[in-house]
Amino acid sequence: MLALLDFLWFQGKFLGVEWGVWKLVGWLGNAVFTARFLVQWRASEKRGQVVVTSLFWWLSIIGSLLLLAYALFYRRDSVMIAAYAFNWIPYFRNLLLHHRNKNARRLCPAPTCGVASSSEANFCAACGRKLT
Ligand SMILES: [Zn+2]
Repeated sequence: MLALLDFLWFQGKFLGVEWGVWKLVGWLGNAVFTARFLVQWRASEKRGQVVVTSLFWWLSIIGSLLLLAYALFYRRDSVMIAAYAFNWIPYFRNLLLHHRNKNARRLCPAPTCGVASSSEANFCAACGRKLT
């Protein structure tokens, strides 16, 4: 047990990494950015088709802004700054489009269904009930 603690915390470093606020911001950004893949993967497996949820875009925006802050204020690395300076823009746009499209959908009135179809659909794709 003591050997494990020595491995984890050695000479004031956790896992050999010197920690500080900005290092925490960077790792948090990495974790949030990576979590979006897990969210998208789970949603797609659940539906059996490629699904991109609004949570995916939120995690993309938050993760990239955290990594941009880390790059700007801690690393001051032009490559990393360029990588995260503008990618939040299409993420934000996709989030807006996602909500606009979601609001335009028609929900199936069947109590056990509730599947959302496109605004042009006349019948539910899942149960075939007429959409009102
Ligand atoms: Zn239905």
